[in-house]
Amino acid sequence: MATKYIFVTGGVASSLGKGIISSSLGKLLQARGYRVTNQKLDPYINVDPGTLNPYEHGECYVTVDGHEADLDLGHYERFLNVRTTKANNVTSGRIYMNVINRERRGDFLGKTVQVIPHITDEIKRNIKQLGNTGNYDFVITEIGGVVGDIESLPYIESVRQMRWEMGRDCLCIHLTYVPFLSAAGELKTKPTQHSVRELQQEGVQPDILVLRTEHPITPEARKKVALFCNVEADCVIESADAKSIYEVPVRMQREGLDTVVLKKFGINPEETHADMREWNEFLHKMETATEEVRIALVGKYVRLPDAYKSITESLIHASAYNDRKLRLELILSDDLTEENVAAKLDGHDGILIAPGFGERGMYGKIVAARYARERDIPCLGICFGMQVMAIEFARNVLGLKDAHTAEIDPSTPDKVIDMMEEQKTVLDKGGSMRLGAYACELRAGTKAAAIYGKELIHERHRHRFEFNNQYKQRFEDAGMTVSGVNPDTGLAEIIESRDNRWYIGVQFHPEYSSTVLRPHPLFIEFIKAAIEK
Ligand code: GLN
Repeated sequence: MATKYIFVTGGVASSLGKGIISSSLGKLLQARGYRVTNQKLDPYINVDPGTLNPYEHGECYVTVDGHEADLDLGHYERFLNVRTTKANNVTSGRIYMNVINRERRGDFLGKTVQVIPHITDEIKRNIKQLGNTGNYDFVITEIGGVVGDIESLPYIESVRQMRWEMGRDCLCIHLTYVPFLSAAGELKTKPTQHSVRELQQEGVQPDILVLRTEHPITPEARKKVALFCNVEADCVIESADAKSIYEVPVRMQREGLDTVVLKKFGINPEETHADMREWNEFLHKMETATEEVRIALVGKYVRLPDAYKSITESLIHASAYNDRKLRLELILSDDLTEENVAAKLDGHDGILIAPGFGERGMYGKIVAARYARERDIPCLGICFGMQVMAIEFARNVLGLKDAHTAEIDPSTPDKVIDMMEEQKTVLDKGGSMRLGAYACELRAGTKAAAIYGKELIHERHRHRFEFNNQYKQRFEDAGMTVSGVNPDTGLAEIIESRDNRWYIGVQFHPEYSSTVLRPHPLFIEFIKAAIEK
């Protein structure tokens, strides 16, 4: 079957959950046996979200091939249990950069370079390159932003052109919002009608409408939307608020989203059936768990929970796996001191020290690491969290009072975290960060080896600084084992305390690879240790 392209656009407001709808549709098609990939096109000018402050756009997600990506790719991976790559996320910045680089090379042979056709051609090339791999039956492309934004115009135009070129192999799903006016006691469909009209003005007639709503869509409202927006009645899909994002695929299945999509492509939906048994088992575990596991996440971006999206979701997967209900408290590390740490962290079964760049909130993380180590509370440190664990250990156990990271104090005599010579062999040319998946060899007999149950693992990185191996022996002698090492460079990937029940720091980001059907072993065991506390 020729690859089919599905576009997901949004109207009325942002943050309606396009990423979740796209992932849910991907999941349902995949559960029917189709090969599916999800793509996100972001209309902003940044070349990738790597340079964005997490408060701007939520967490920066990292793919195995080392691409700093939009957090929606995290949803795609968690829902579909597949790996995405750089090709799955493209921004306007990258599109323009590619076109401008070609212009500088003289590729356009003296022609005027314009949004149409050059930018739209580059957009289409980026969409089709996924289909052209021959690896997918369906490519689901989500377009960031809201229809009517200046930035999204070239994308909608590209959708229009692709539909014109491919006809039945392309379809457009438009997600809108239907507000409920309590004073009038009515659902209002006018904003939806307007946003569909906007899309039509740009040349695209949506095939399917997904209506995000807090109240059930009445048959009258459904009929009205179908009539005025020019779609068939069964192509109006309700997406009511759900308690958990993981309920959405099942709701979409009940609403028949996958069925109408297949029908629109001329594929008989009766031929396949979406087998959601494993998914539903997870949902059941998550919904029926009553006993809580209380986790404190110590970080500096806690005011925007999206900044720790993958960590939060990994904790949710692992808690459900362990039949527990996650009670997560996000604790602002800037506010933590020796004086208030007991009051803030007591009552938690486990402590997670979050990643981060820069100095803000670091002191509070050190305080939290010490508290967890001395009270023997299960503790997982991720990336900067692991580095903080090492600094805390050097200061308070090895007695190196000035121990620090060169990132924050380059003049300290004891740079236990530093830029290492060995890094140069693995860094991309020009780049200064270790990005993407790297191998890690686990030392036999350690907790890390027991947790993974194998000797060689691959985990994703996103950092500049490393554990300084000059201190390795002293750490090991004092009870902190380096239990995972990159085989090519000898760089430390995992440290674990021999004197604690569960005190593990990882230089990589396990949270990027936890999925609903395959919760990550480190998170599973962290939650297990927290429960046993
Ligand atoms: N700031 C640290 C480094 O660059 C850690 C970064 C992170 O936590 N992702 O090494």
